[in-house]
Amino acid sequence: MNKSKRVEICISCGVMLVEPGFVRFPCPECGEEIGRCVKCRKQSNPYKCKCGFIGP
Ligand SMILES: [Zn+2]
Ligand SMILES: [Zn+2]
Repeated sequence: MNKSKRVEICISCGVMLVEPGFVRFPCPECGEEIGRCVKCRKQSNPYKCKCGFIGP
C-alpha cells in the first residue's frame, strides 16, 4: 500500500486539480504540499496554508 497522499484540490478555490497546468509545491514555511489550479496561478490568487502562511 502506498500511503503517500498528494494534494488534489486547489488551495485557493478548492477545485479539483485535473486540468493541465496546475502546480504542486511545498509551503515555504512548513513544507506542507500546496496545490494551485491554472486559474488561480494566472490570477495570482492568494492562498493560505494550514500553518498560517499566506502567499501569492
Ligand atoms: Zn484555484
Ligand atoms: Zn505551511
